[in-house]
Amino acid sequence: MNRETLLNASIMNKMNIVKKVLTILFVVCCSSFFQQIGAQDFICKSPDQILHLSVQLKEGALWYSISYKEATILEESPLGLITNVSDFSRDLRFVEKSERVVHTNYTLKSIKQSRVDHLLNEVVATYETPRSEKISIIFRVGNNDVAFKYALAQNGETARCIVEKELTGFKFPSFTTTFLTPQATPMIGWMRTKPSYEEGYASDEPMGTPSRYGLGYTFPGLFHVGDNGWALVSETGVGSLYCGAKLSEGTKEGLYTISYPEEGENNGIGSAKPGIALPGETAWRTITVGDNLKPIVETTIAFDLVEPQYEPSKEYTFGRSTWSWLLWQDESINFEDQKRFIDLSAAMGYELVLVDNWWDTRIGKEKIEELAKYAASKGIGLSLWYNSNGYWSDAPQGPKNKMNTAIARKKEMAWMQSIGIKGIKVDFFGGDKQETMKLYEEILSDANDYGLVVIFHGCTLPRGWERMYPNFAGSEAVLASENLIFTQNANDLEAYSATLHPFIRNSVASMDFGPVLLNKRHNRTNDGGTIRRTTETFQLATAVLFQTPVQHFGITPNNLEEYPAFVIDFMRNIPSLWDETVFIDGYPGKYVVLARRHGNQWYVAAINAEKERRDLKVTLPMLAEKEILYYSDKKDRSPQLNQLSISKNGTITLSIEPEGGVILTTQHQHAK
Ligand code: CA
Repeated sequence: MNRETLLNASIMNKMNIVKKVLTILFVVCCSSFFQQIGAQDFICKSPDQILHLSVQLKEGALWYSISYKEATILEESPLGLITNVSDFSRDLRFVEKSERVVHTNYTLKSIKQSRVDHLLNEVVATYETPRSEKISIIFRVGNNDVAFKYALAQNGETARCIVEKELTGFKFPSFTTTFLTPQATPMIGWMRTKPSYEEGYASDEPMGTPSRYGLGYTFPGLFHVGDNGWALVSETGVGSLYCGAKLSEGTKEGLYTISYPEEGENNGIGSAKPGIALPGETAWRTITVGDNLKPIVETTIAFDLVEPQYEPSKEYTFGRSTWSWLLWQDESINFEDQKRFIDLSAAMGYELVLVDNWWDTRIGKEKIEELAKYAASKGIGLSLWYNSNGYWSDAPQGPKNKMNTAIARKKEMAWMQSIGIKGIKVDFFGGDKQETMKLYEEILSDANDYGLVVIFHGCTLPRGWERMYPNFAGSEAVLASENLIFTQNANDLEAYSATLHPFIRNSVASMDFGPVLLNKRHNRTNDGGTIRRTTETFQLATAVLFQTPVQHFGITPNNLEEYPAFVIDFMRNIPSLWDETVFIDGYPGKYVVLARRHGNQWYVAAINAEKERRDLKVTLPMLAEKEILYYSDKKDRSPQLNQLSISKNGTITLSIEPEGGVILTTQHQHAK
């Protein structure tokens, strides 16, 4: 340890002691967060006292409700579980409760904010059935988040349990509108690979509108509770010990409930219901609440509630990547084209290149070793694509049979480690059953043993995985940029979809969308195929708006010659890791303005999905009195760059063209 590290360690120690003392003081002073109502019911308030969770036992059944600034967010909503052993849905009797403050404090460079430090008020309430079987509900309330999970005790010799049904519901006031994406029918779509969280969103729909497939909605779901506020409903902490859940179809009265996977997922193999060993716990249910959209965009609750599941085998680094497959497709999976993309990443100063599907037959392992050496000579790392396969889809792409069993997987990963491969992208998973969650976790855990970063595609929503598994980077689980190549409709809806993700999908987990396509036409020669509707500045803005620690950019070698230096320089300097994320303005489906900080560099990105230009007065305190670069769209929709001085109060009016964008950044002060 050198002097500086010693000094830092001693400062950190002192800070930790101060923090502990403050926390104890806080608990003593603010134990008023808990309010008893009658003998068995209570209200748990947020640290700032504004968000209220109320829990009631009525005639043996459990209910909860949520209010924010005294306005209703969730009306009386059901709690409870029915297992094959016990019925915790009725005839419950209150046993005991306890309260404490949980100090949530961690650093995590792969999410929207590198340092998290706040308090969650916790109440654990225990109830029992007439047969004395105990269930505890662990509630946590932050300033803008409510979370809870169920903990089941062992009763006698019974140590096994199947959860037949979770009653947990979310009952919204009648005037609420929804922003939801449907759960897909099992075994449909291309090569029977669904569900894969690749459906569109319907915005501002009345509650109870039937979903596209009639199977409910995938997490997260956003609810606009009129003037009362907003709520983002999701779940977290789902690893190998539980299944992924979803929201049921809503009733006209506004009740959405937790619903487990469909029997047909994973080709019908594996139980649709989760099994737990007793004593054991369910996953966390989360509701992020605000009277505006800022808490919805900025929440870290998906990561606050979980713990790292293993030690990282090394210090993982993430980075920027190019990949040929997006625009050049399968035909580009050959040695020469891959070299061109290694050269592209090198020219951009990026860290990575992804070699996508079919490399096993079209390039071969020996030539991959040669490519990895060539890449390393230019300071670039390679990532390799794999098919998750097994018996759950017909997806034909190789390499197959390498990721679905421990023996093949470890052998393959040892080979990758021996030639310096940085990471894997594993595609085409079978749904949300516990059996599939186990496969995700096993791939992550084995990959950590061989020092590999993991990305999933054709997959479920990651639920707290950035913190649970330190080598996890991000997942697709979105109608990603590949659809811009596949259909014109995806291009026509591109701006609309992009203004949804910061509020919904990307709020709860890293999103491997593959943004920034600078080709005007989406084919290899930039002269055919689908037509991009959005502007180049819009595309650049998505590099800021879409967060994932390993960004796969859709730029291609021809773009270097086609655009002015300031466009390419922006892409050279853009980071993929963020220390801070600040919501500025927006409405899902219409427009969004977001600020992100990397080190001391700020990026403010704004996009407009509507058909009219939007003139928007915003206050950007982070840019006050700074000289900044201002990227925007010219009248002819081509990109332009200006330098601006921001006033003392940070106020500026942005003019955002239809399907266009604006970026303000301090980037040039530290251009590479
Ligand atoms: Ca996909």
